[in-house]
Amino acid sequence: MSIARLFAEKSVVFSFEIFPPKRDSSIDTIWSTLEQLEGLGPDFISVTYGAGGDGGKSHTARIAGAIRSRYGITPLAHLTCVNSTREQVLQSLAQLREEGVEDILALRGDRLPGVEPRTDFTYASDLISFIRQQGGFSLSGACYPEGHTEAPDTVTDIRNLRKKVDAGAEHLVSQLFFDNSAFYAFVERARIAGITVPIEAGIMPVVNARQILRMVSLCGASLPPKFTRMISRYEDKPAALRDAGIAYAIDQIVDLIAQGVQGIHLYTMNDPDVARRISQAVENLRKG
Ligand code: FAD
Repeated sequence: MSIARLFAEKSVVFSFEIFPPKRDSSIDTIWSTLEQLEGLGPDFISVTYGAGGDGGKSHTARIAGAIRSRYGITPLAHLTCVNSTREQVLQSLAQLREEGVEDILALRGDRLPGVEPRTDFTYASDLISFIRQQGGFSLSGACYPEGHTEAPDTVTDIRNLRKKVDAGAEHLVSQLFFDNSAFYAFVERARIAGITVPIEAGIMPVVNARQILRMVSLCGASLPPKFTRMISRYEDKPAALRDAGIAYAIDQIVDLIAQGVQGIHLYTMNDPDVARRISQAVENLRKG
């Protein structure tokens, strides 16, 4: 089922994000991850494209294709443009078509240190317009409840988000956040700005201390006192931090669903055990 139809038919869409293994030799690990995720009944699964570096790009289309053909789940393939030419994007689109993938999360991508960005595409909205011209795909975009790190302020960021939706993004997936009130304020700003497409909340269960430091430096999500107290209490107790991080994510999701969120996008970090514990905890809430 297309992502647009999922949002039209379900009271809450529940989806997962996975990433291709960075090393080619580890590609087989993704199939066992997917076998375990499939049983949790996600509405769709997104596959990142070169997030955190160049690794795994060539596998995104293949994994997205398998999500559709082997597991019968709607795939959402991420695609970035900042380091690509039009020709390279056309090649990626051809590969996705061959794999029967119809939904793309079109992103600008991060500028890599020491790599001069290409000039064919400047923003995600350029990629969205370009793919729309080619036809045959439904497009999603990223959004940032606390503002993108490069945006001068949240109002400018929302104006830019509106351009992305006007270019053809039919669904938005949010950056991770730990403070639900930041997400609610963002959705309100987006609606005032005339953005009417479904906005899915991106939830990252924090299950190890190293991950937290890296994430916070990358995305600048604010950390509520309840969250920082949890980290400082359990950072040296891995099993306890895992339980606490999962409980925190469940608490966020319960509140989001109660407040009428249209979708939850769980950043699984390829950890089926974490995805299972969270999915089971909110199973009945997903039924509306
Ligand atoms: P854009 O929408 O282009 O925005 C980038 C900046 O430009 C923002 O500050 C925005 O305000 C500004 N801007 C946008 N349009 C205009 C305009 N017309 N005029 C002036 N300013 C403008 N990265 C990966 O490499 N691979 C992935 O798979 C991946 N998946 C992601 C999934 C999600 C859900 C999210 C939230 C992020 C993901 N990222 C991924 C990271 C993403 O590539 C970075 O956050 C990147 O810095 C911005 O991408 P974007 O598509 O949001 O860019």
